[in-house]
Amino acid sequence: MDQTASPYPHHECGVFGIFNHPNAAALTYYGLFALQHRGQESAGMVSATGPGELFKLHKAMGLVGQVFQQGDIERLTGTRAVGHTRYSTTGSSNLVNAQPIIGHGSRGQIAIAHNGNLINADVLRDELEDRGSIFQTTNDSEILLHLLAQPVAPGASPLSALARARGAFSLVIMSERELIGVRDPFGFRPLVLGKLEDAYVLASETCAFDLIHAEFIREIEPGEVVIIGEHGIRSEWPFRQERKAFCIFEYVYFARPDSLIDDVNVAAARTEMGRELARLHPVEADLVVPVPDSGNYAALGYAEELGIPFEHAFVRNHYIGRTFLAPSQLIRDFNVRIKLNLIKGAVKGRRVVVIDDSIVRGTTARARVVSLREAGAKEVHMRVSCPPHRFACHYGIDFPDPEKLLANQLSHAAICEYLGADSVGYLDVPGMVRATGGSEKDFCLACFTGQYPVPVDPALDKYIMERRDSRENHLVTADAHPNLFADLK
Ligand code: SF4
Repeated sequence: MDQTASPYPHHECGVFGIFNHPNAAALTYYGLFALQHRGQESAGMVSATGPGELFKLHKAMGLVGQVFQQGDIERLTGTRAVGHTRYSTTGSSNLVNAQPIIGHGSRGQIAIAHNGNLINADVLRDELEDRGSIFQTTNDSEILLHLLAQPVAPGASPLSALARARGAFSLVIMSERELIGVRDPFGFRPLVLGKLEDAYVLASETCAFDLIHAEFIREIEPGEVVIIGEHGIRSEWPFRQERKAFCIFEYVYFARPDSLIDDVNVAAARTEMGRELARLHPVEADLVVPVPDSGNYAALGYAEELGIPFEHAFVRNHYIGRTFLAPSQLIRDFNVRIKLNLIKGAVKGRRVVVIDDSIVRGTTARARVVSLREAGAKEVHMRVSCPPHRFACHYGIDFPDPEKLLANQLSHAAICEYLGADSVGYLDVPGMVRATGGSEKDFCLACFTGQYPVPVDPALDKYIMERRDSRENHLVTADAHPNLFADLK
């Protein structure tokens, strides 16, 4: 990641779908607003009324509020729609790779919106290209679209072709007759089912249902395919059964605090992580200060558990997007400080515990400690509401190479010294899991433990990265070549 980009781990994507509602596009628009935290690079929507009618598509780079204008929503007519907010974990960040993606095959039109990352994407892609497939994009999601278009054995469901995909995928698919929700057999990413009057709704998180007044019915189970059509709703189970491996980092950082995961409120789980952290690494202090926003609940739990006053000493600027100035020491410093400023009087002469949800590269955590020291804090104790990140994620989160992860490179003492803190304490795996009310066997913990639920062969991983780089370098995009594409617009 370049130095001008956000130093925080990125969300992967948000997906949304609705079937059988006269205001499908408007509701999808609001659903995408609620899922904006899962991806801010591009947004898109496909709508339709029924079989034989051409799908309508609108997608563009930017936030949901920038991508859709009143006229766009009015043009997206129909009673069913799928929508997507994207952050690119695979494929370049450009309009070609924005979703949903539409395909036209012998079974009619299909639109797909994908959250996750396939670990065998390039193997499948090579195989499909060898058989004559032509791809429009460099992202994993189009591979799933091609798999759905492949012939299957007589009597088999076309959805059974998805069983060849390995890795993380929560999908919302719209065919000419149905809306389909798919969750990979490990259940890495969330996907929930809701109801609004006579319509069914699918979304990455329950917060999207709250906004549109839909009733949460249940989670789509790992390995389940839910098919919603004119005659109701049914499930298929086309995948080999695997152990559940839900991404625990959804609880720690990614999901919105007002969402429910496995009937547990995310804010409550984060508060409990703070309490666990306080029991594991207590310290005598005058003040607990969160790094907003995702550190807020853990800091509250930490402060409550130890009876230390809680104060919002960092003030967040909510109105900045990405910063694009070229890296230099001066600009790097501004980029780290641009999101948060400190109320200096709140910390001067006091012993401060600063709580963050995670430390990835360490640049921002270090900057927070420096600013607390500059403001005159007497002591600065860093507490982190998840365990140290030592391993890369292969399932859709852009945790960098292990060599760029602070805890992979430095000992505990060296981390404390690098950050300039008086002490550092991380939550441990058992405490993090306990805070969710779940069981270790049901989670992916790979970026903390190195135990990958879907093993990644290092040789295959190298091949995939080489193939991906080569494809990215040859992708011709409208962004990069505006004149070439001008006649086609
Ligand atoms: S490796 Fe970490 S971020 Fe990736 S899916 Fe597993 S728990 Fe989530």
